[in-house]
Amino acid sequence: MNCRHCFHPLKHVFLDLGFAPPSNAYLREYDLDKPERYYPLKLFVCEYCWLVQTKDYTSADELFKDDYAYFSSVSQSWLTHAAQYADMVTARLDLNQNSYVIEVGANDGYLLKNFVTAGIPCLGIEPTADTAAAAKKKWNSDSL
Ligand SMILES: [Zn+2]
Repeated sequence: MNCRHCFHPLKHVFLDLGFAPPSNAYLREYDLDKPERYYPLKLFVCEYCWLVQTKDYTSADELFKDDYAYFSSVSQSWLTHAAQYADMVTARLDLNQNSYVIEVGANDGYLLKNFVTAGIPCLGIEPTADTAAAAKKKWNSDSL
């Protein structure tokens, strides 16, 4: 396995968390009598660029299904943190209408809505269709 960033071979396990089912893959009642899939959850660190990354044991389609159940904006404390972070980074990087903010894993737009409100162009990239649709609907922006 090679580093996703610099493509050097990954030799060092950073953290081994054993095995885990896909996150937010809630079971339905009829699933309860079936075996649940578990995948290794192991982080590697690249000795060249220090990027910490997981090894992919299954496809994104398995991990991010259409009924992905986690919506970041249901947590008021997380929304408060996201707003404070957006204010901090806007000031620190002097972001304005000429900037462009990109978030990978934007979920339902909980963070980027703060940049939309501030008039800062942004783009949210989200692999789960239902959370991305919620972002567009909730924050009324085609950038999310
Ligand atoms: Zn690397």
